[in-house]
Amino acid sequence: MIRNSHIAILNTIMKKYTNFATKAIRTQHERAFREHSVPLYLTSSFTFDDAEQARALFADEYVDNIYSRFSNPNVNEFVEKMCVLEGTEDGFGTATGMAAVFASLMTFLKSGDHILASSALFASSTRIIKEFLPKWNIEYSFYDINKPETWESLIQPNTKMIFAETPSNPGLVLIDLEHLCALGKKHNLLVNIDNCFATPYLQTPAKYGADIITHSATKFIDGQGRVCGGVVLGSAALIKEVRAFCRQTGPAMSPFNAWILSKSLETLHVRMDRHCDNALALAKWLETNPEIEKTIYPFLPSHPQYDLAKKQMSQGGGVVTFIVKGGIDRGRKFLDSLEMFSHTANLGDCRTIATHPASTTHSKIEESVREAAGIFGGTVRVSVGLEHIDDIKADIAQALEKSK
Ligand SMILES: *Cc1c(COP(=O)(O)O)cnc(C)c1O
Repeated sequence: MIRNSHIAILNTIMKKYTNFATKAIRTQHERAFREHSVPLYLTSSFTFDDAEQARALFADEYVDNIYSRFSNPNVNEFVEKMCVLEGTEDGFGTATGMAAVFASLMTFLKSGDHILASSALFASSTRIIKEFLPKWNIEYSFYDINKPETWESLIQPNTKMIFAETPSNPGLVLIDLEHLCALGKKHNLLVNIDNCFATPYLQTPAKYGADIITHSATKFIDGQGRVCGGVVLGSAALIKEVRAFCRQTGPAMSPFNAWILSKSLETLHVRMDRHCDNALALAKWLETNPEIEKTIYPFLPSHPQYDLAKKQMSQGGGVVTFIVKGGIDRGRKFLDSLEMFSHTANLGDCRTIATHPASTTHSKIEESVREAAGIFGGTVRVSVGLEHIDDIKADIAQALEKSK
């Protein structure tokens, strides 16, 4: 069985289903024992029938499982589902989202290359680009997300990749995928999109021509805050290179985490519908609250990129960002006054989570850079959970009152 052609077969079989829900639930491997649910394959290696099979496998004459650092049936099932949902030919599952981002950069960039990256990226991605890539003599520029007309002027002869995240974490700034991918195509650059916030249920960058798609599966894909995971997706040719890099360097996803994440994908659409409904209702309500300076949510007509959000996303996502009046002190006090919300550094959970980026995830980034990414002292990021919307609003209302 050749893995790529197996995904091609799955993609062909699943083509008859145009609905996300059916694809997410019905994409699955053959079952060895007629078991209905996917079993957990806790094995670090796989036996060879004979010396000839071992030789052929290591010579890449055909693809099958050898060792769980390279591939494992649970990881394969998760990755295959993600390929069908994102519309890509192949993928590689990683231990975390950052391992996916790092692998997607290091596979394709070499000494002397240049990467053009968004000014509003997840903080760890920004830090990899600024602090680690220069150690390998890889140059970078950050493009201003608010000025798409300037992006092209930053492309250099040695630019190899454009990297973006949309919507961004936590500023919820959108990047026009059609514009970005057209730019990449024109200049022969790899376009790499971190699609973590939208998930393939709300937006599929491959449709616009994105070459590489990365995910932190830790967030909405898991959906219950249990395991970390990530995935790099793309064409068979590109993922062949990612696989070669990861096979030697070892950022593989654990079978147990892959098993959890495959099951999670079966309910992603149902959870995302409720996350998005709750988030939109909360955003509308916050907008009318006099204690809130500003509410940011892609599907609010007041969002500066509302039209773009409607064009490239099917719903606004599960994260709402707002600025409480009173700056950094009120922001922190507000967090301490919340009773029901979880205060933790995760998102995409069925439990509502609030964070204060200025004093946590973005505390090591200079204020001007932080503010350029839309993060102010009073900014609160809420990953809106699946509790009843009335209870979510009530907790915010009492915390606003208490932190006055
Ligand atoms: C959380 C996150 C990551 C990193 O994922 P981990 O699984 O925590 O390593 C990358 N990108 C975005 C947008 C994220 O929110």
